[in-house]
Amino acid sequence: MEMESIECVSSTDGIEDEEIQLSHHQFSSAKTHSNIIPAGIAPTSVHELLECPVCTNSMYPPIHQCHNGHTLCSTCKTRVHNRCPTCRQELGDIRCLALEKVAESLELPCKYFSLGCPEIFPYYSKLKHEALCNFRPYNCPYAGSECSVTGDFPYLVAHLRDDHKVDMHTGCTFNHRYVKSKPREVENATWMLTVFHCFGQYFCLHFEAFQLGMAPVYMAFLRFMGDETEARNYSYSLEVGGNGRKLIWEGTPRSVRDSHRKVRDSHDGLIIQRNMALFFSGGDRKELKLRVIGRIWKEQQNPGVCIPNPCS
Ligand SMILES: [Zn+2]
Ligand SMILES: [Zn+2]
Ligand SMILES: [Zn+2]
Ligand SMILES: [Zn+2]
Repeated sequence: MEMESIECVSSTDGIEDEEIQLSHHQFSSAKTHSNIIPAGIAPTSVHELLECPVCTNSMYPPIHQCHNGHTLCSTCKTRVHNRCPTCRQELGDIRCLALEKVAESLELPCKYFSLGCPEIFPYYSKLKHEALCNFRPYNCPYAGSECSVTGDFPYLVAHLRDDHKVDMHTGCTFNHRYVKSKPREVENATWMLTVFHCFGQYFCLHFEAFQLGMAPVYMAFLRFMGDETEARNYSYSLEVGGNGRKLIWEGTPRSVRDSHRKVRDSHDGLIIQRNMALFFSGGDRKELKLRVIGRIWKEQQNPGVCIPNPCS
């Protein structure tokens, strides 16, 4: 289908071959589904019309308007104390059905098209896709607090280093010592994060203490800063030991798309019982000293093999 041949069809009166000119824009009919407004050609004013002038979010039904025709979204309507934010007149309770219908007839590119998403959706199902779109920005992988920062990886890595004071390491092997005083006190969310940079990628090593059922445990696991398909190209091992004993964990890093909590709750990592940890630690058990040796490597490409996630 050529982009130039966008038809202008009324979708309300059932007469499909009647052409109406709606100001300077052309709207496609929901019935034809072949008329797509491509990102580069879409008249910006359609987007502007459907953008709430108060919060600038896309508007979804019910879309409201004032007596003078100024539109706003339903979230903002509840916040403006019955005054139109544009003209300050009393707002009333008028729904803008025409604009809702116009929205319904649109097919629009995913809002992450500039980040590479090629998908096009009917206006009202766009939001659902965007929540799961592979091209959406990543959330901050820091686990210690609710952090709402999102972005691409160079941005998030700088954010982790500068704002969360996370340790950065270059290379695919590591040898870490975790020291904790009063190891008898296991608080949930006693965690540490280290970022590793190797193979041109970033990995997050989490280490923490929590209560697993009745048992206090320490857990270490790796997350890959990228999506799950790409994460499967890598493997890692963690080794912890002392006093002539050791535990070795070998696994596939999880994508940071899976939340820290989800990975932790699926037990997909090295789990050390506290008694074992204290045994490895040696000494008088007043202080926990754990040496964790790790390695990250790239797997041979083998497209025929599918490694399932233990929790999905
Ligand atoms: Zn709004
Ligand atoms: Zn108004
Ligand atoms: Zn998308
Ligand atoms: Zn953050």
